[in-house]
Amino acid sequence: MAGAGLLLGGIAWQKTAHASNARVVVVGGGTGGATAAKYLRLADPSLQVTLIEQNADYLTCYMSNEVLSGTRELDSLRFGYTGLTQHGVQMVHDQVTSIDPTQHRISTAGGAQIDYDKCIVAPGIDFRYTDIEGYSEAAAEIAPHAWKAGNQTLTLRQQLVDMDNGGLVVIAAPPNPYRCPPAPYERASQIAMYLKQHKPNSKVIILDPKTSFAKKSLFELAWQRRYGYQTADAMIEWRSGDDAAGVVRVDAAARTAYTEFGDVVSADVLNVIPPQKAGAIAFQADLTDETGWCPVNRQTFESTRHQDIHIIGDACTATNLPKSGFAANSEAKACAFAISDLLNGREPGNPAFSNTCYSIVDHDYAISVLAVYRLSDDGNSIDAVPDSGGMSDADATDEKLKLDVEYAYSWYNNFTKDVFY
Ligand SMILES: Cc1cc2nc3c(=O)[nH]c(=O)nc-3n(C[C@H](O)[C@H](O)[C@H](O)COP(=O)(O)OP(=O)(O)OC[C@H]3O[C@@H](n4cnc5c(N)ncnc54)[C@H](O)[C@@H]3O)c2cc1C
Repeated sequence: MAGAGLLLGGIAWQKTAHASNARVVVVGGGTGGATAAKYLRLADPSLQVTLIEQNADYLTCYMSNEVLSGTRELDSLRFGYTGLTQHGVQMVHDQVTSIDPTQHRISTAGGAQIDYDKCIVAPGIDFRYTDIEGYSEAAAEIAPHAWKAGNQTLTLRQQLVDMDNGGLVVIAAPPNPYRCPPAPYERASQIAMYLKQHKPNSKVIILDPKTSFAKKSLFELAWQRRYGYQTADAMIEWRSGDDAAGVVRVDAAARTAYTEFGDVVSADVLNVIPPQKAGAIAFQADLTDETGWCPVNRQTFESTRHQDIHIIGDACTATNLPKSGFAANSEAKACAFAISDLLNGREPGNPAFSNTCYSIVDHDYAISVLAVYRLSDDGNSIDAVPDSGGMSDADATDEKLKLDVEYAYSWYNNFTKDVFY
């Protein structure tokens, strides 16, 4: 360890380890962690990269709303890790129970102790169950969040299948910031798509603490065109934070939600998406601040609280970058190259990031938004580059809207190859 500090651009870059054979351990093999492990090896094949993931395989949340509508099977979202081992990543399937930033040591539930020169933490999110009175992990078995793809997704799907025609589905949307800003509204669309075909007298109500949401104008236009939005026969109704519609209490057994305003809404299917925070291991390792998320240096994603630990993906605060899989993948690449630079005594580059998000609102109708981001000159924030991106056109032809569904599937195929192969 140690080496000469280099002064480049006014910032001292400390060479902390010889890159050759330096040990980089990645905690969490989801979208961010898997991408980082692969790109570390691509950036510098001399690195010893270990990826610790608690599950045998990974289910993507992206496209999981299509499981709810019956468009796809859960297994179509499943990815293994053999692709990463072919890049020379050492896989450990275990749960990390502690990270000691002083000793540079990771401990696992299985009893292993793994030392690192650099560590990347990418644990995704956990839920603030207690922010909603009456909601808990047990209550989520009855009123599922389905915000991590898996059994919860299947439970919610089955509840929709079992619901009678004429039933009411209630989605309790979360406050900002949370994983994938447009996804609750894509979910409402996918459920309405299923109901329209199979249970046409049914309805979806979104109870929202927010006064607006991602791609709102495009969603509302799509809902008007396909689901009678804002008419007496609307299949989707959005109740806004302006009317204090956020859910503050639930009675899961009775499938009843209570809003901040005092409304009592009894559902046949109740989907509660709770407020969120960084994954538990980030709290154990003292990587979070008072927001419940992990502050990082926006150029390298190194923790501002503990040296040699970098945090990427949903768990970190990347200012204007949304908490999305696309952004996690983009951050992972910037972080992997920054670590390679730091270990080799080079000044990390000025990273650019991107995010594209498709929302499939009907079987032949998708909307999308794209943005490119750059580190601000003072390095304190990651900002959208003016005029760099765009949104679906409100006047898009039916053919173009349908084409966007194909683009969404194409994105999914290409993206998961980038992450896992
Ligand atoms: C319904 C829905 C739809 C979405 N649609 C999109 C979309 O269309 N496009 C998009 O870009 N994003 C989408 N997202 C968001 C996307 O899924 C997340 O932003 C992304 O998964 C974040 O990646 P991550 O690596 O931070 O976390 P994750 O992908 O959740 O990975 C975290 C990993 O860490 C592991 N882990 C956690 N703690 C430990 C521990 N202590 N030890 C070992 N392993 C651990 C977990 O098992 C998990 O595999 C959607 C999300 C939802 C819920």
